[in-house]
Amino acid sequence: MSTPTREVRVRFAPSPTGPLHIGGVRTALYNYLFARRNGGKMILRIEDTDSQRFVPGAEDYINEALAWLGIEIDEGVREGGPYGPYKQSERRDIYREHVKMLLDNGKAYIAFDTPAELEAARAAHPNFQYDASTRGSMRNSLSLPPEEVKRLLDEGAQYVVRFRIEPGRDVAVDDLIRGRVTIKSDILDDKVLYKSADDLPTYHLANIVDDHLMKVSHVIRGEEWLPSAPLHVLLYEAFGWADTMPAFVHLPLLLKPDGKGKLSKRDGDRLGFPVFPLLWTDPKSGDTSAGYRENGYLPEAVVNFLALLGWNPGDDTEIMDMVTLISKFSLEHCSKAGAKFAFDKAKWFNHTYLQALPDDKLADMFVPVLKAHGVDAGAFAPDYIAKAVSLVKSRINFVNDLWDNARFFFVAPESYDPKAVKKRWNAQMSDIMRELAALLQSAPDFGSAALEPAVMQWIADKGYHLGNVMNAFRLTVVGECKGPHMFDITDLLGRDETIRRILRGADTIKPVDEPAV
Ligand code: GLU
Repeated sequence: MSTPTREVRVRFAPSPTGPLHIGGVRTALYNYLFARRNGGKMILRIEDTDSQRFVPGAEDYINEALAWLGIEIDEGVREGGPYGPYKQSERRDIYREHVKMLLDNGKAYIAFDTPAELEAARAAHPNFQYDASTRGSMRNSLSLPPEEVKRLLDEGAQYVVRFRIEPGRDVAVDDLIRGRVTIKSDILDDKVLYKSADDLPTYHLANIVDDHLMKVSHVIRGEEWLPSAPLHVLLYEAFGWADTMPAFVHLPLLLKPDGKGKLSKRDGDRLGFPVFPLLWTDPKSGDTSAGYRENGYLPEAVVNFLALLGWNPGDDTEIMDMVTLISKFSLEHCSKAGAKFAFDKAKWFNHTYLQALPDDKLADMFVPVLKAHGVDAGAFAPDYIAKAVSLVKSRINFVNDLWDNARFFFVAPESYDPKAVKKRWNAQMSDIMRELAALLQSAPDFGSAALEPAVMQWIADKGYHLGNVMNAFRLTVVGECKGPHMFDITDLLGRDETIRRILRGADTIKPVDEPAV
Protein backbone atom coordinates (compact mmCIF):
# COMPACT_ATOMS: atom_id res chain seq x y z
CA MET A 1 0.00 0.00 0.00
CA SER A 2 1.54 3.29 -0.97
CA THR A 3 0.45 6.57 0.51
CA PRO A 4 0.40 9.45 -1.92
CA THR A 5 3.14 11.89 -0.99
CA ARG A 6 1.65 14.76 0.84
CA GLU A 7 2.65 18.35 0.35
CA VAL A 8 4.86 19.33 3.27
CA ARG A 9 3.11 21.99 5.32
CA VAL A 10 4.40 22.86 8.76
CA ARG A 11 3.41 25.46 11.25
CA PHE A 12 5.02 27.38 14.05
CA ALA A 13 2.21 28.08 16.50
CA PRO A 14 3.36 30.30 19.36
CA SER A 15 1.08 31.71 22.01
CA PRO A 16 1.67 35.44 22.49
CA THR A 17 2.08 35.14 26.25
CA GLY A 18 5.46 36.85 26.53
CA PRO A 19 8.76 37.05 24.67
CA LEU A 20 9.51 34.09 22.45
CA HIS A 21 11.96 31.84 24.31
CA ILE A 22 15.10 30.67 22.55
CA GLY A 23 13.67 27.12 22.61
CA GLY A 24 10.68 28.41 20.66
CA VAL A 25 13.06 30.00 18.18
CA ARG A 26 14.71 26.62 17.66
CA THR A 27 11.28 25.06 17.04
CA ALA A 28 10.52 27.74 14.45
CA LEU A 29 13.91 27.19 12.84
CA TYR A 30 13.51 23.41 12.54
CA ASN A 31 10.05 23.87 11.04
CA TYR A 32 11.48 26.32 8.55
CA LEU A 33 14.46 24.13 7.62
CA PHE A 34 12.18 21.13 7.16
CA ALA A 35 9.72 23.10 5.04
CA ARG A 36 12.43 24.54 2.81
CA ARG A 37 14.29 21.24 2.52
CA ASN A 38 11.13 19.58 1.28
CA GLY A 39 9.80 22.34 -0.91
CA GLY A 40 6.92 22.85 1.51
CA LYS A 41 5.19 25.74 3.22
CA MET A 42 5.86 27.38 6.57
CA ILE A 43 2.83 28.69 8.42
CA LEU A 44 2.89 31.08 11.38
CA ARG A 45 -0.25 30.67 13.45
CA ILE A 46 -0.86 32.83 16.48
CA GLU A 47 -2.50 30.77 19.23
CA ASP A 48 -4.09 33.45 21.32
CA THR A 49 -7.08 31.63 22.76
CA ASP A 50 -5.93 32.02 26.34
CA SER A 51 -7.14 35.55 26.92
CA GLN A 52 -5.89 35.49 30.54
CA ARG A 53 -2.30 35.09 29.45
CA PHE A 54 -2.27 37.45 26.46
CA VAL A 55 0.64 39.92 26.58
CA PRO A 56 0.60 43.04 24.40
CA GLY A 57 3.61 43.30 22.14
CA ALA A 58 4.34 39.58 22.16
CA GLU A 59 3.06 39.00 18.62
CA ASP A 60 5.14 41.85 17.20
CA TYR A 61 8.11 40.48 19.07
CA ILE A 62 7.63 37.06 17.45
CA ASN A 63 7.45 38.60 13.98
CA GLU A 64 10.48 40.74 14.58
CA ALA A 65 12.55 37.90 15.98
CA LEU A 66 11.75 35.56 13.08
CA ALA A 67 12.48 38.29 10.54
CA TRP A 68 15.79 39.10 12.22
CA LEU A 69 16.87 35.48 12.01
CA GLY A 70 15.81 35.06 8.39
CA ILE A 71 13.04 32.56 9.14
CA GLU A 72 10.58 33.34 6.38
CA ILE A 73 6.87 32.76 6.70
CA ASP A 74 4.77 31.67 3.73
CA GLU A 75 1.33 31.90 5.32
CA GLY A 76 0.44 33.87 8.40
CA VAL A 77 -1.33 36.82 9.95
CA ARG A 78 0.68 39.35 7.95
CA GLU A 79 1.38 37.21 4.92
CA GLY A 80 -2.18 35.97 4.45
CA GLY A 81 -2.80 32.65 2.72
CA PRO A 82 -5.53 30.30 1.58
CA TYR A 83 -6.46 28.94 5.03
CA GLY A 84 -6.74 32.11 7.10
CA PRO A 85 -7.37 33.78 9.37
CA TYR A 86 -4.10 32.69 10.96
CA LYS A 87 -4.89 34.13 14.36
CA GLN A 88 -7.02 31.89 16.52
CA SER A 89 -9.00 34.63 18.19
CA GLU A 90 -10.36 35.44 14.72
CA ARG A 91 -11.55 31.88 14.13
CA ARG A 92 -14.28 31.59 16.76
CA ASP A 93 -16.98 30.59 14.28
CA ILE A 94 -14.84 27.74 13.02
CA TYR A 95 -14.25 26.40 16.52
CA ARG A 96 -17.91 26.76 17.52
CA GLU A 97 -18.89 24.73 14.49
CA HIS A 98 -16.34 22.03 15.32
CA VAL A 99 -17.36 21.85 18.97
CA LYS A 100 -20.88 21.27 17.73
CA MET A 101 -19.68 18.45 15.47
CA LEU A 102 -18.25 16.62 18.48
CA LEU A 103 -21.34 17.26 20.58
CA ASP A 104 -23.54 15.97 17.76
CA ASN A 105 -21.55 12.79 17.25
CA GLY A 106 -21.37 12.07 20.96
CA LYS A 107 -17.62 12.51 21.29
CA ALA A 108 -17.99 15.48 23.59
CA TYR A 109 -20.46 16.62 26.22
CA ILE A 110 -21.45 19.73 28.11
CA ALA A 111 -20.42 20.14 31.75
CA PHE A 112 -21.90 22.67 34.16
CA ASP A 113 -19.73 22.06 37.20
CA THR A 114 -18.77 25.30 38.87
CA PRO A 115 -15.21 25.92 40.03
CA ALA A 116 -16.43 25.36 43.61
CA GLU A 117 -17.96 22.01 42.70
CA LEU A 118 -14.78 20.89 40.98
CA GLU A 119 -12.82 22.00 44.00
CA ALA A 120 -15.08 19.97 46.27
CA ALA A 121 -14.69 16.89 44.07
CA ARG A 122 -10.91 17.25 44.21
CA ALA A 123 -11.00 17.67 47.97
CA ALA A 124 -13.20 14.59 48.41
CA HIS A 125 -11.23 12.27 46.13
CA PRO A 126 -7.46 12.46 46.38
CA ASN A 127 -6.54 11.69 42.77
CA PHE A 128 -9.68 13.12 41.27
CA GLN A 129 -9.77 13.13 37.53
CA TYR A 130 -12.78 14.10 35.41
CA ASP A 131 -13.19 10.92 33.38
CA ALA A 132 -15.38 7.87 32.67
CA SER A 133 -15.16 6.79 36.31
CA THR A 134 -16.29 10.11 37.78
CA ARG A 135 -18.29 11.96 35.14
CA GLY A 136 -21.50 10.15 36.20
CA SER A 137 -21.38 11.89 39.55
CA MET A 138 -20.73 15.34 38.13
CA ARG A 139 -23.16 17.81 36.56
CA ASN A 140 -23.02 17.30 32.84
CA SER A 141 -25.10 16.39 29.83
CA LEU A 142 -24.27 12.71 30.32
CA SER A 143 -25.45 12.61 33.93
CA LEU A 144 -28.33 15.11 33.93
CA PRO A 145 -31.75 14.56 32.33
CA PRO A 146 -32.04 16.23 28.89
CA GLU A 147 -34.73 18.71 30.13
CA GLU A 148 -32.41 19.85 32.88
CA VAL A 149 -29.58 20.39 30.40
CA LYS A 150 -31.90 22.35 28.15
CA ARG A 151 -33.15 24.44 31.06
CA LEU A 152 -29.62 25.32 32.16
CA LEU A 153 -28.62 26.28 28.64
CA ASP A 154 -31.76 28.37 28.16
CA GLU A 155 -31.03 30.12 31.45
CA GLY A 156 -27.61 31.03 30.12
CA ALA A 157 -25.66 28.97 32.65
CA GLN A 158 -21.92 28.90 32.09
CA TYR A 159 -20.54 25.62 30.84
CA VAL A 160 -17.58 23.94 29.28
CA VAL A 161 -17.47 21.27 26.61
CA ARG A 162 -15.44 18.23 27.57
CA PHE A 163 -13.92 15.54 25.38
CA ARG A 164 -15.43 12.13 26.15
CA ILE A 165 -12.47 9.81 26.51
CA GLU A 166 -13.25 6.10 26.44
CA PRO A 167 -11.21 4.06 28.89
CA GLY A 168 -9.42 0.83 28.08
CA ARG A 169 -7.80 1.91 24.87
CA ASP A 170 -4.18 1.89 23.84
CA VAL A 171 -3.40 5.18 22.21
CA ALA A 172 -0.37 5.18 19.95
CA VAL A 173 1.54 8.30 18.93
CA ASP A 174 3.96 7.77 16.09
CA ASP A 175 6.76 10.25 16.47
CA LEU A 176 9.33 10.56 13.71
CA ILE A 177 12.14 11.07 16.24
CA ARG A 178 10.96 8.85 19.09
CA GLY A 179 9.18 6.08 17.28
CA ARG A 180 5.89 4.77 18.64
CA VAL A 181 4.83 5.90 22.10
CA THR A 182 1.76 4.09 23.47
CA ILE A 183 -0.29 5.05 26.51
CA LYS A 184 -3.53 3.84 28.08
CA SER A 185 -6.48 6.11 27.52
CA ASP A 186 -7.44 5.62 31.20
CA ILE A 187 -4.75 8.05 32.30
CA LEU A 188 -6.32 10.86 30.28
CA ASP A 189 -8.99 13.11 31.69
CA ASP A 190 -11.99 14.47 29.80
CA LYS A 191 -10.20 17.60 28.66
CA VAL A 192 -12.03 20.87 28.37
CA LEU A 193 -12.29 21.80 24.70
CA TYR A 194 -14.36 24.94 24.89
CA LYS A 195 -15.51 27.47 27.49
CA SER A 196 -18.78 29.33 27.15
CA ALA A 197 -17.49 32.07 29.45
CA ASP A 198 -15.20 33.56 26.79
CA ASP A 199 -16.66 31.71 23.80
CA LEU A 200 -13.23 30.36 23.04
CA PRO A 201 -11.82 26.89 22.54
CA THR A 202 -8.89 25.62 24.57
CA TYR A 203 -5.49 25.01 23.07
CA HIS A 204 -6.20 21.34 22.28
CA LEU A 205 -9.29 21.86 20.21
CA ALA A 206 -8.11 24.93 18.35
CA ASN A 207 -4.73 23.37 17.64
CA ILE A 208 -6.18 20.18 16.14
CA VAL A 209 -8.91 21.88 14.14
CA ASP A 210 -6.43 24.35 12.69
CA ASP A 211 -3.79 21.77 11.89
CA HIS A 212 -6.46 19.85 10.02
CA LEU A 213 -7.98 22.80 8.19
CA MET A 214 -4.59 24.27 7.36
CA LYS A 215 -3.55 20.88 5.95
CA VAL A 216 -0.53 20.59 8.21
CA SER A 217 1.52 17.53 7.30
CA HIS A 218 4.06 17.55 10.16
CA VAL A 219 3.67 18.88 13.68
CA ILE A 220 7.19 19.80 14.77
CA ARG A 221 7.26 21.16 18.30
CA GLY A 222 9.05 20.96 21.64
CA GLU A 223 9.11 17.85 23.77
CA GLU A 224 6.97 19.55 26.38
CA TRP A 225 3.99 18.94 24.10
CA LEU A 226 4.52 15.18 23.89
CA PRO A 227 2.10 14.48 26.79
CA SER A 228 -0.67 16.22 24.81
CA ALA A 229 -0.11 14.10 21.72
CA PRO A 230 -2.28 11.06 22.70
CA LEU A 231 -5.19 13.39 23.33
CA HIS A 232 -4.57 14.97 19.95
CA VAL A 233 -4.56 11.57 18.27
CA LEU A 234 -7.95 10.82 19.88
CA LEU A 235 -9.30 14.16 18.73
CA TYR A 236 -8.32 13.47 15.12
CA GLU A 237 -10.17 10.17 15.39
CA ALA A 238 -13.22 11.76 16.98
CA PHE A 239 -13.47 14.17 14.06
CA GLY A 240 -12.98 11.33 11.57
CA TRP A 241 -9.69 12.78 10.38
CA ALA A 242 -7.36 9.95 11.38
CA ASP A 243 -6.36 9.38 7.75
CA THR A 244 -4.90 12.82 7.34
CA MET A 245 -3.44 13.16 10.80
CA PRO A 246 -0.09 15.01 10.64
CA ALA A 247 3.13 13.20 11.55
CA PHE A 248 4.42 14.14 14.99
CA VAL A 249 7.94 15.33 15.68
CA HIS A 250 8.80 16.25 19.27
CA LEU A 251 12.14 18.01 19.50
CA PRO A 252 14.50 17.31 22.39
CA LEU A 253 14.50 19.60 25.41
CA LEU A 254 17.06 22.36 25.71
CA LEU A 255 19.05 21.64 28.86
CA LYS A 256 21.07 23.84 31.20
CA PRO A 257 24.72 24.15 30.11
CA ASP A 258 25.72 21.46 32.64
CA GLY A 259 22.99 19.16 31.32
CA LYS A 260 21.18 19.07 34.67
CA GLY A 261 17.58 19.97 33.96
CA LYS A 262 15.66 22.16 31.61
CA LEU A 263 17.09 25.49 30.50
CA SER A 264 15.35 28.39 32.21
CA LYS A 265 15.48 32.15 32.16
CA ARG A 266 17.18 32.03 35.55
CA ASP A 267 20.10 30.04 34.08
CA GLY A 268 20.62 32.84 31.60
CA ASP A 269 20.60 35.47 34.34
CA ARG A 270 22.89 33.39 36.54
CA LEU A 271 25.42 32.50 33.84
CA GLY A 272 25.16 35.70 31.85
CA PHE A 273 23.60 34.74 28.54
CA PRO A 274 20.30 35.68 26.93
CA VAL A 275 17.48 33.16 26.59
CA PHE A 276 15.53 35.43 24.25
CA PRO A 277 16.32 36.38 20.67
CA LEU A 278 15.67 40.12 21.14
CA LEU A 279 15.68 42.45 24.09
CA TRP A 280 12.29 42.29 25.79
CA THR A 281 10.71 44.94 27.93
CA ASP A 282 7.87 43.65 30.05
CA PRO A 283 4.90 45.92 29.31
CA LYS A 284 3.68 45.82 32.92
CA SER A 285 6.77 45.95 35.08
CA GLY A 286 9.13 47.61 32.60
CA ASP A 287 11.70 44.91 33.47
CA THR A 288 14.00 44.03 30.61
CA SER A 289 15.43 40.68 29.55
CA ALA A 290 18.55 40.51 27.43
CA GLY A 291 18.37 39.47 23.80
CA TYR A 292 20.91 37.98 21.42
CA ARG A 293 20.48 40.80 18.92
CA GLU A 294 21.16 43.59 21.38
CA ASN A 295 24.00 41.62 22.95
CA GLY A 296 25.87 41.77 19.67
CA TYR A 297 25.11 38.44 18.05
CA LEU A 298 24.80 38.09 14.33
CA PRO A 299 21.59 36.37 13.29
CA GLU A 300 23.60 33.88 11.21
CA ALA A 301 25.55 32.84 14.30
CA VAL A 302 22.40 32.38 16.38
CA VAL A 303 20.77 30.32 13.63
CA ASN A 304 23.86 28.13 13.24
CA PHE A 305 24.17 27.63 17.00
CA LEU A 306 20.50 26.75 17.45
CA ALA A 307 20.43 24.42 14.45
CA LEU A 308 23.01 22.22 16.16
CA LEU A 309 21.10 21.99 19.44
CA GLY A 310 19.29 18.74 18.73
CA TRP A 311 20.37 18.06 15.15
CA ASN A 312 23.63 17.29 13.36
CA PRO A 313 24.45 17.17 9.67
CA GLY A 314 25.77 13.58 9.92
CA ASP A 315 29.38 14.74 9.88
CA ASP A 316 31.59 17.22 11.73
CA THR A 317 30.62 20.30 9.78
CA GLU A 318 29.93 23.13 12.20
CA ILE A 319 29.77 26.33 10.22
CA MET A 320 26.62 26.30 8.12
CA ASP A 321 24.66 29.24 6.83
CA MET A 322 20.92 29.02 6.29
CA VAL A 323 21.22 27.75 2.73
CA THR A 324 23.58 24.97 3.80
CA LEU A 325 21.41 24.08 6.79
CA ILE A 326 18.40 23.76 4.49
CA SER A 327 20.29 21.50 2.13
CA LYS A 328 21.44 19.22 4.94
CA PHE A 329 18.47 19.19 7.31
CA SER A 330 16.73 15.91 8.00
CA LEU A 331 14.66 14.57 10.87
CA GLU A 332 16.76 11.36 10.89
CA HIS A 333 19.60 13.34 12.37
CA CYS A 334 17.53 14.92 15.13
CA SER A 335 18.28 13.48 18.54
CA LYS A 336 15.96 12.23 21.24
CA ALA A 337 18.29 13.19 24.05
CA GLY A 338 18.11 16.70 25.47
CA ALA A 339 20.57 19.20 24.02
CA LYS A 340 22.90 21.03 26.40
CA PHE A 341 22.80 24.76 25.87
CA ALA A 342 26.56 25.09 25.36
CA PHE A 343 26.57 28.83 25.54
CA ASP A 344 30.30 29.36 24.98
CA LYS A 345 29.79 27.76 21.62
CA ALA A 346 27.41 30.59 20.73
CA LYS A 347 30.26 33.05 21.29
CA TRP A 348 32.55 30.96 19.15
CA PHE A 349 30.01 30.95 16.33
CA ASN A 350 29.67 34.69 16.61
CA HIS A 351 33.43 35.14 16.56
CA THR A 352 33.70 32.93 13.49
CA TYR A 353 30.92 34.70 11.60
CA LEU A 354 32.39 38.11 12.46
CA GLN A 355 35.75 37.06 10.97
CA ALA A 356 34.01 36.14 7.75
CA LEU A 357 32.37 39.56 7.33
CA PRO A 358 33.99 41.97 4.87
CA ASP A 359 35.85 44.72 6.72
CA ASP A 360 33.66 47.49 5.37
CA LYS A 361 30.55 45.69 6.63
CA LEU A 362 32.09 45.24 10.06
CA ALA A 363 33.13 48.90 9.99
CA ASP A 364 29.52 49.92 9.32
CA MET A 365 28.48 47.93 12.36
CA PHE A 366 31.20 49.58 14.43
CA VAL A 367 30.11 53.13 13.60
CA PRO A 368 27.16 53.19 16.06
CA VAL A 369 29.46 51.85 18.77
CA LEU A 370 31.95 54.65 18.07
CA LYS A 371 29.17 57.20 18.24
CA ALA A 372 27.90 55.74 21.48
CA HIS A 373 31.36 56.39 22.90
CA GLY A 374 31.27 60.00 21.78
CA VAL A 375 33.50 59.59 18.72
CA ASP A 376 32.65 61.73 15.71
CA ALA A 377 32.78 58.74 13.37
CA GLY A 378 32.06 60.94 10.35
CA ALA A 379 35.46 62.58 10.80
CA PHE A 380 37.14 59.31 9.84
CA ALA A 381 37.23 57.97 6.29
CA PRO A 382 35.31 54.70 5.84
CA ASP A 383 38.56 53.08 4.69
CA TYR A 384 40.29 54.16 7.87
CA ILE A 385 37.60 52.57 10.05
CA ALA A 386 37.65 49.41 7.93
CA LYS A 387 41.45 49.16 8.24
CA ALA A 388 41.30 49.67 12.01
CA VAL A 389 38.67 46.95 12.24
CA SER A 390 40.71 44.56 10.11
CA LEU A 391 43.72 44.94 12.44
CA VAL A 392 41.85 43.92 15.59
CA LYS A 393 38.96 41.75 14.50
CA SER A 394 40.67 38.44 15.21
CA ARG A 395 40.43 39.37 18.91
CA ILE A 396 36.70 40.02 19.07
CA ASN A 397 33.62 37.89 19.78
CA PHE A 398 31.19 40.80 19.45
CA VAL A 399 31.02 44.04 17.53
CA ASN A 400 31.12 45.89 20.85
CA ASP A 401 34.48 44.32 21.61
CA LEU A 402 35.88 46.45 18.78
CA TRP A 403 35.77 49.45 21.07
CA ASP A 404 38.19 48.05 23.63
CA ASN A 405 40.48 46.78 20.93
CA ALA A 406 40.43 49.66 18.48
CA ARG A 407 39.54 52.77 20.46
CA PHE A 408 43.10 54.15 20.24
CA PHE A 409 42.67 54.52 16.47
CA PHE A 410 39.99 57.10 17.22
CA VAL A 411 41.05 58.77 20.46
CA ALA A 412 44.60 59.45 21.61
CA PRO A 413 45.38 58.01 25.02
CA GLU A 414 44.68 60.38 27.89
CA SER A 415 46.19 58.16 30.51
CA TYR A 416 48.72 55.37 30.49
CA ASP A 417 48.48 51.92 31.98
CA PRO A 418 50.27 52.33 35.34
CA LYS A 419 51.59 48.76 35.37
CA ALA A 420 53.19 49.22 31.98
CA VAL A 421 54.64 52.59 33.03
CA LYS A 422 56.18 51.00 36.07
CA LYS A 423 57.67 48.18 34.07
CA ARG A 424 58.83 50.03 30.93
CA TRP A 425 59.43 53.70 31.70
CA ASN A 426 62.73 54.73 33.20
CA ALA A 427 64.40 58.10 33.64
CA GLN A 428 65.89 58.04 30.14
CA MET A 429 62.73 57.03 28.34
CA SER A 430 61.34 60.50 27.64
CA ASP A 431 64.56 61.44 25.84
CA ILE A 432 64.63 58.18 23.94
CA MET A 433 61.05 58.81 22.80
CA ARG A 434 61.95 62.33 21.63
CA GLU A 435 64.77 60.80 19.65
CA LEU A 436 62.33 58.32 18.17
CA ALA A 437 59.93 61.13 17.26
CA ALA A 438 62.77 62.91 15.44
CA LEU A 439 63.62 59.73 13.59
CA LEU A 440 60.02 59.26 12.50
CA GLN A 441 59.85 62.90 11.47
CA SER A 442 62.76 62.48 9.08
CA ALA A 443 61.93 58.97 7.84
CA PRO A 444 61.68 59.15 4.05
CA ASP A 445 58.98 56.49 3.98
CA PHE A 446 56.49 56.20 6.86
CA GLY A 447 54.93 52.97 5.57
CA SER A 448 55.20 49.96 7.84
CA ALA A 449 57.53 48.00 5.55
CA ALA A 450 60.16 50.76 5.50
CA LEU A 451 59.69 52.15 8.99
CA GLU A 452 60.08 48.94 10.92
CA PRO A 453 63.65 48.15 9.77
CA ALA A 454 64.62 51.81 10.23
CA VAL A 455 63.46 51.82 13.85
CA MET A 456 65.06 48.43 14.53
CA GLN A 457 68.33 49.70 13.12
CA TRP A 458 68.21 52.81 15.30
CA ILE A 459 67.58 50.72 18.45
CA ALA A 460 70.45 48.43 17.57
CA ASP A 461 72.84 51.30 16.74
CA LYS A 462 72.08 52.96 20.07
CA GLY A 463 72.30 49.73 22.00
CA TYR A 464 68.85 50.32 23.54
CA HIS A 465 66.80 47.57 25.11
CA LEU A 466 64.49 46.43 22.31
CA GLY A 467 61.61 45.30 24.55
CA ASN A 468 61.64 48.40 26.73
CA VAL A 469 61.83 50.87 23.88
CA MET A 470 59.18 49.18 21.76
CA ASN A 471 56.85 48.86 24.73
CA ALA A 472 57.37 52.46 25.72
CA PHE A 473 56.68 53.45 22.11
CA ARG A 474 53.47 51.40 22.19
CA LEU A 475 52.52 52.90 25.55
CA THR A 476 52.67 56.45 24.16
CA VAL A 477 50.63 55.58 21.08
CA VAL A 478 48.09 53.10 22.46
CA GLY A 479 48.03 53.91 26.18
CA GLU A 480 48.79 50.32 27.15
CA CYS A 481 51.04 47.51 26.05
CA LYS A 482 48.64 45.63 23.85
CA GLY A 483 47.20 45.77 20.37
CA PRO A 484 48.12 44.75 16.86
CA HIS A 485 51.56 45.00 15.26
CA MET A 486 53.10 48.37 16.18
CA PHE A 487 54.02 49.40 12.65
CA ASP A 488 50.56 48.55 11.34
CA ILE A 489 49.26 50.94 13.96
CA THR A 490 51.62 53.77 13.01
CA ASP A 491 50.95 53.15 9.33
CA LEU A 492 47.25 53.74 9.87
CA LEU A 493 47.53 56.59 12.37
CA GLY A 494 49.93 58.42 10.07
CA ARG A 495 53.08 60.34 10.76
CA ASP A 496 51.68 63.47 12.43
CA GLU A 497 49.37 61.71 14.84
CA THR A 498 52.01 59.14 15.78
CA ILE A 499 54.59 61.80 16.52
CA ARG A 500 52.12 63.91 18.45
CA ARG A 501 51.34 60.94 20.69
CA ILE A 502 54.99 60.03 21.22
CA LEU A 503 55.84 63.59 22.26
CA ARG A 504 52.85 63.85 24.53
CA GLY A 505 53.91 60.62 26.22
CA ALA A 506 57.47 61.88 26.50
CA ASP A 507 56.21 65.04 28.22
CA THR A 508 53.67 63.51 30.55
CA ILE A 509 54.76 60.01 31.54
CA LYS A 510 57.00 59.98 34.58
CA PRO A 511 58.96 57.01 35.85
CA VAL A 512 57.53 55.43 38.96
CA ASP A 513 60.10 55.66 41.73
CA GLU A 514 61.05 52.31 43.06
CA PRO A 515 60.51 52.31 46.81
CA ALA A 516 63.87 52.73 48.53
CA VAL A 517 65.29 49.46 49.73
N1 GLU B 1 0.56 27.28 21.20
C1 GLU B 1 1.46 26.22 21.53
C2 GLU B 1 2.75 26.86 21.98
O1 GLU B 1 2.71 27.91 22.52
C3 GLU B 1 1.64 25.33 20.34
C4 GLU B 1 2.16 23.96 20.61
C5 GLU B 1 2.12 23.16 19.34
O2 GLU B 1 2.98 23.43 18.48
O3 GLU B 1 1.23 22.34 19.20
O4 GLU B 1 3.85 26.36 21.84
